Amino acid sequence: MAFVFTPPATVGLPVSGSDDLFPVRRVYCVGRNYAAHAREMGFDPEREPPFFFCKPNDDASVVPVARGATATLPYPPQTRNYHFEAELVVAIGKGGRDIALAEAASHIYGYAVGLDMTRRDLQIAAREKGRPWEVGKAFDFSAPIGPIRRRADIGVLTQGLIRLDVNGEMRQSSHLTQLIWSVDEVIARLSTLFTLQPGDLIFSGTPEGVGAVGPGDALELRIEGLETLRVRIG
Ligand code: MN
Repeated sequence: MAFVFTPPATVGLPVSGSDDLFPVRRVYCVGRNYAAHAREMGFDPEREPPFFFCKPNDDASVVPVARGATATLPYPPQTRNYHFEAELVVAIGKGGRDIALAEAASHIYGYAVGLDMTRRDLQIAAREKGRPWEVGKAFDFSAPIGPIRRRADIGVLTQGLIRLDVNGEMRQSSHLTQLIWSVDEVIARLSTLFTLQPGDLIFSGTPEGVGAVGPGDALELRIEGLETLRVRIG
Protein backbone atom coordinates (compact mmCIF):
# COMPACT_ATOMS: atom_id res chain seq x y z
CA MET A 1 0.00 0.00 0.00
CA ALA A 2 1.14 3.52 -0.69
CA PHE A 3 0.80 6.68 1.33
CA VAL A 4 -2.05 8.86 0.11
CA PHE A 5 0.46 11.69 -0.24
CA THR A 6 4.20 11.99 0.17
CA PRO A 7 5.05 11.86 3.88
CA PRO A 8 7.23 14.67 5.21
CA ALA A 9 10.95 13.99 5.20
CA THR A 10 12.93 13.66 8.42
CA VAL A 11 14.89 16.82 9.15
CA GLY A 12 18.67 16.33 9.11
CA LEU A 13 21.13 18.59 10.92
CA PRO A 14 24.64 18.84 9.47
CA VAL A 15 27.36 17.23 11.59
CA SER A 16 30.63 19.16 11.73
CA GLY A 17 33.62 17.42 10.23
CA SER A 18 31.49 14.91 8.32
CA ASP A 19 29.13 14.63 5.37
CA ASP A 20 26.50 12.96 7.54
CA LEU A 21 23.23 14.33 8.85
CA PHE A 22 21.78 13.91 12.34
CA PRO A 23 18.13 12.83 11.94
CA VAL A 24 15.82 14.84 14.19
CA ARG A 25 13.23 12.93 16.19
CA ARG A 26 11.67 15.01 18.97
CA VAL A 27 12.44 18.57 20.01
CA TYR A 28 12.24 19.04 23.79
CA CYS A 29 12.76 22.42 25.44
CA VAL A 30 13.51 23.36 29.05
CA GLY A 31 11.78 26.42 30.49
CA ARG A 32 13.41 29.00 32.80
CA ASN A 33 16.80 27.34 33.27
CA TYR A 34 18.91 30.46 33.97
CA ALA A 35 18.13 32.39 37.17
CA ALA A 36 18.47 35.87 35.66
CA HIS A 37 16.11 34.95 32.80
CA ALA A 38 13.55 33.50 35.23
CA ARG A 39 13.65 36.84 37.08
CA GLU A 40 13.20 38.90 33.90
CA MET A 41 10.12 36.79 33.10
CA GLY A 42 8.67 37.57 36.53
CA PHE A 43 9.54 34.39 38.44
CA ASP A 44 11.53 33.57 41.53
CA PRO A 45 14.36 31.35 40.28
CA GLU A 46 14.29 28.92 43.17
CA ARG A 47 15.47 25.47 42.23
CA GLU A 48 12.16 23.84 41.47
CA PRO A 49 12.22 20.83 39.15
CA PRO A 50 12.82 21.74 35.48
CA PHE A 51 9.74 21.87 33.27
CA PHE A 52 9.50 20.99 29.61
CA PHE A 53 7.62 21.82 26.45
CA CYS A 54 8.05 20.65 22.86
CA LYS A 55 8.40 22.11 19.41
CA PRO A 56 7.41 20.30 16.22
CA ASN A 57 10.14 18.23 14.58
CA ASP A 58 8.99 18.83 11.01
CA ASP A 59 10.80 20.70 8.28
CA ALA A 60 8.49 23.69 8.67
CA SER A 61 9.51 24.29 12.29
CA VAL A 62 13.13 23.10 12.47
CA VAL A 63 15.51 25.11 10.29
CA PRO A 64 18.94 23.49 9.85
CA VAL A 65 21.55 26.15 9.19
CA ALA A 66 24.77 25.00 7.52
CA ARG A 67 28.19 26.21 8.59
CA GLY A 68 28.82 29.69 7.23
CA ALA A 69 25.24 30.08 5.99
CA THR A 70 22.65 32.66 7.02
CA ALA A 71 19.06 31.41 7.18
CA THR A 72 16.15 33.74 6.63
CA LEU A 73 13.25 33.38 9.07
CA PRO A 74 9.97 34.84 7.81
CA TYR A 75 8.42 37.17 10.38
CA PRO A 76 5.69 34.97 11.91
CA PRO A 77 1.98 35.84 11.77
CA GLN A 78 -0.20 37.03 14.67
CA THR A 79 2.54 38.54 16.83
CA ARG A 80 3.83 41.99 17.70
CA ASN A 81 6.49 40.72 20.07
CA TYR A 82 8.71 38.19 18.28
CA HIS A 83 11.59 37.21 20.58
CA PHE A 84 14.93 35.43 20.31
CA GLU A 85 16.12 32.97 22.97
CA ALA A 86 19.73 31.81 22.53
CA GLU A 87 20.22 28.24 23.71
CA LEU A 88 22.60 25.31 23.88
CA VAL A 89 20.99 22.38 22.05
CA VAL A 90 21.90 18.87 23.17
CA ALA A 91 21.62 16.07 20.61
CA ILE A 92 20.83 12.62 22.01
CA GLY A 93 22.69 9.69 20.42
CA LYS A 94 21.65 6.85 22.71
CA GLY A 95 18.13 6.42 24.04
CA GLY A 96 16.94 5.36 27.44
CA ARG A 97 14.57 5.99 30.29
CA ASP A 98 15.26 6.69 33.97
CA ILE A 99 18.81 7.53 32.96
CA ALA A 100 21.13 7.83 35.97
CA LEU A 101 22.88 11.16 36.46
CA ALA A 102 26.30 9.52 36.19
CA GLU A 103 25.32 7.94 32.85
CA ALA A 104 23.63 10.99 31.31
CA ALA A 105 26.65 12.30 29.39
CA SER A 106 27.10 8.95 27.64
CA HIS A 107 23.70 9.49 25.95
CA ILE A 108 24.86 12.72 24.29
CA TYR A 109 25.79 12.57 20.61
CA GLY A 110 26.79 16.21 20.36
CA TYR A 111 25.88 19.85 20.72
CA ALA A 112 24.67 22.73 18.59
CA VAL A 113 23.52 26.28 19.08
CA GLY A 114 19.85 27.01 18.53
CA LEU A 115 17.26 29.73 18.79
CA ASP A 116 13.99 29.08 20.62
CA MET A 117 12.08 31.74 18.66
CA THR A 118 9.01 32.83 20.58
CA ARG A 119 5.84 34.81 19.94
CA ARG A 120 6.13 36.33 23.41
CA ASP A 121 2.76 38.09 23.38
CA LEU A 122 0.95 34.85 22.54
CA GLN A 123 3.04 32.82 25.01
CA ILE A 124 2.33 35.21 27.88
CA ALA A 125 -1.39 35.42 27.04
CA ALA A 126 -1.55 31.60 27.10
CA ARG A 127 0.46 31.41 30.31
CA GLU A 128 -1.83 33.87 32.08
CA LYS A 129 -4.90 31.82 31.13
CA GLY A 130 -3.25 28.51 32.06
CA ARG A 131 -3.38 27.42 28.41
CA PRO A 132 -0.78 25.43 26.44
CA TRP A 133 2.20 27.28 24.96
CA GLU A 134 2.17 25.95 21.40
CA VAL A 135 0.88 29.14 19.78
CA GLY A 136 3.79 31.01 21.35
CA LYS A 137 6.50 28.42 20.84
CA ALA A 138 5.67 25.81 18.20
CA PHE A 139 5.11 27.83 15.04
CA ASP A 140 6.82 27.49 11.65
CA PHE A 141 10.51 28.48 11.50
CA SER A 142 10.61 28.58 15.31
CA ALA A 143 13.69 26.38 15.78
CA PRO A 144 16.75 27.35 13.71
CA ILE A 145 19.73 25.18 14.68
CA GLY A 146 23.37 25.23 13.61
CA PRO A 147 25.60 22.23 12.81
CA ILE A 148 26.21 19.62 15.51
CA ARG A 149 29.65 19.12 16.95
CA ARG A 150 30.15 15.57 18.16
CA ARG A 151 30.89 14.79 21.80
CA ALA A 152 33.41 12.30 20.41
CA ASP A 153 35.31 15.28 18.95
CA ILE A 154 34.95 17.95 21.65
CA GLY A 155 34.19 16.06 24.85
CA VAL A 156 31.45 16.82 27.36
CA LEU A 157 30.47 20.50 27.28
CA THR A 158 29.95 21.91 30.78
CA GLN A 159 31.24 25.46 30.40
CA GLY A 160 31.70 28.19 27.86
CA LEU A 161 30.35 31.56 26.92
CA ILE A 162 26.94 31.83 25.26
CA ARG A 163 26.39 35.10 23.44
CA LEU A 164 23.83 36.50 21.03
CA ASP A 165 24.30 39.65 18.97
CA VAL A 166 21.60 41.52 17.05
CA ASN A 167 22.94 43.73 14.24
CA GLY A 168 26.40 43.47 15.78
CA GLU A 169 25.28 44.55 19.26
CA MET A 170 25.49 42.15 22.20
CA ARG A 171 22.04 41.31 23.61
CA GLN A 172 22.54 38.07 25.54
CA SER A 173 25.74 37.00 27.28
CA SER A 174 26.12 34.31 29.90
CA HIS A 175 27.99 31.17 30.70
CA LEU A 176 26.88 27.55 30.53
CA THR A 177 27.86 27.19 34.20
CA GLN A 178 24.88 29.47 34.97
CA LEU A 179 22.35 26.77 34.02
CA ILE A 180 20.12 26.10 37.04
CA TRP A 181 19.78 22.47 35.92
CA SER A 182 22.89 21.07 34.24
CA VAL A 183 22.62 19.19 30.97
CA ASP A 184 23.13 15.90 32.84
CA GLU A 185 20.37 16.75 35.30
CA VAL A 186 18.02 17.74 32.48
CA ILE A 187 18.64 14.43 30.67
CA ALA A 188 18.11 12.43 33.87
CA ARG A 189 14.88 14.26 34.69
CA LEU A 190 13.48 14.29 31.13
CA SER A 191 14.09 10.55 30.84
CA THR A 192 11.79 9.92 33.81
CA LEU A 193 8.96 11.53 31.83
CA PHE A 194 9.68 10.30 28.29
CA THR A 195 11.75 7.46 26.86
CA LEU A 196 14.53 9.27 25.04
CA GLN A 197 15.54 8.04 21.61
CA PRO A 198 18.48 8.71 19.29
CA GLY A 199 17.68 11.85 17.32
CA ASP A 200 16.02 13.71 20.16
CA LEU A 201 17.09 17.32 20.70
CA ILE A 202 16.93 19.25 23.95
CA PHE A 203 16.92 23.06 24.00
CA SER A 204 18.47 23.69 27.42
CA GLY A 205 17.03 27.14 28.19
CA THR A 206 18.03 30.74 27.57
CA PRO A 207 19.96 33.25 29.65
CA GLU A 208 18.74 36.77 30.39
CA GLY A 209 18.49 39.50 27.77
CA VAL A 210 15.72 38.10 25.55
CA GLY A 211 14.11 40.70 23.34
CA ALA A 212 12.15 41.49 20.23
CA VAL A 213 13.40 41.50 16.64
CA GLY A 214 11.86 42.69 13.40
CA PRO A 215 12.29 42.46 9.63
CA GLY A 216 15.88 42.95 8.49
CA ASP A 217 17.50 42.21 11.85
CA ALA A 218 20.59 39.95 11.75
CA LEU A 219 21.16 37.57 14.66
CA GLU A 220 24.44 35.83 15.46
CA LEU A 221 24.60 33.23 18.22
CA ARG A 222 27.85 31.82 19.50
CA ILE A 223 28.72 29.27 22.16
CA GLU A 224 32.39 28.70 22.86
CA GLY A 225 33.52 25.51 21.11
CA LEU A 226 30.47 25.21 18.81
CA GLU A 227 29.56 26.40 15.32
CA THR A 228 28.16 29.91 15.04
CA LEU A 229 24.50 30.28 14.00
CA ARG A 230 23.42 33.22 11.82
CA VAL A 231 19.85 34.10 10.89
CA ARG A 232 18.14 37.12 9.39
CA ILE A 233 14.52 38.08 9.94
CA GLY A 234 12.62 38.30 6.66
MN1 MN B 1 13.62 28.75 25.62
